[in-house]
Amino acid sequence: MEQLKQAIRERGNVLSDQVLKVDTFLNHQVDVNLMAAIGEEFARLFSESGITKVLTIESSGIAPSFMAASTLGTPLIFARKKKSLTMNNDVFVSSVYSFTKQETNDITVSKDFLDAGDVVLIIDDFLANGQAALGLIDIVHQAGAHVAGIGIVIEKSFQDGRKLLEEQGYRVESLARVHQLSEGRVTFVDELTT
Ligand code: 5GP
Repeated sequence: MEQLKQAIRERGNVLSDQVLKVDTFLNHQVDVNLMAAIGEEFARLFSESGITKVLTIESSGIAPSFMAASTLGTPLIFARKKKSLTMNNDVFVSSVYSFTKQETNDITVSKDFLDAGDVVLIIDDFLANGQAALGLIDIVHQAGAHVAGIGIVIEKSFQDGRKLLEEQGYRVESLARVHQLSEGRVTFVDELTT
C-alpha cells in the first residue's frame, strides 16, 4: 500500500535493525485518514471471506481495525492485555511473548463475544515473530470459531512470523512488507531487484 509505505519512509523512525518506531501515525499519535484507508484495504482484501468478527489486540491494533470492521459491517473485538476487574472468569486466555517488551503476558477475550459459528479476521499493527497473531488464533480456536486470515499493517519480513503462520495454513495479508531496517533506512520487499 503506497500511502502506508510513504508514511513509514517519511514519518517512521528506525530504532535498530530490528525495531521500527511509528509513533507519529500508528502507535501513539494516530493518522486517522491513513488508518481509515488501511481499514478499507483490509475490508477489500477479505470482502469474499464471509467475516463475522474482526479481532485485534489492544491498544495499537484498534485504530487500523476500526474501519475494517465498519466497512465489513461486523463488530470489532480487542483482546485485553490485562484482565479487567469487571471481567469475570468467563474468558478465553492465551499467553503471548511480547517482542518489544520481552516478557510473556496473558491476553483475554470474554466468551460473550466469540461463538463457534464466527468467521474471524485477525488484525494487528506489526508482524515480527508471529506470537501475538498465534495468541489471537489460539483464542479463536478456543471459541471453536474459524480464522479467515490475518491482516497486518507492517510486516517485518526478515523475522519469522509470516513463515510460521503460512506453515500452519493461514492467509497473511500485510499492507507493507519491510525487507530490511539498516542505517536508519527502510527497504521494502517489493523494492528489491531480482
Ligand atoms: P510478534 O508477536 O509478531 O513477535 O510481534 C508483534 C507485536 O509486537 C505487535 O503487536 C507489536 O505491538 C509489537 N512489535 C513487533 N515489532 C515491532 C516494531 O518493530 N515496532 C513496533 N512499534 N512494534 C513492534
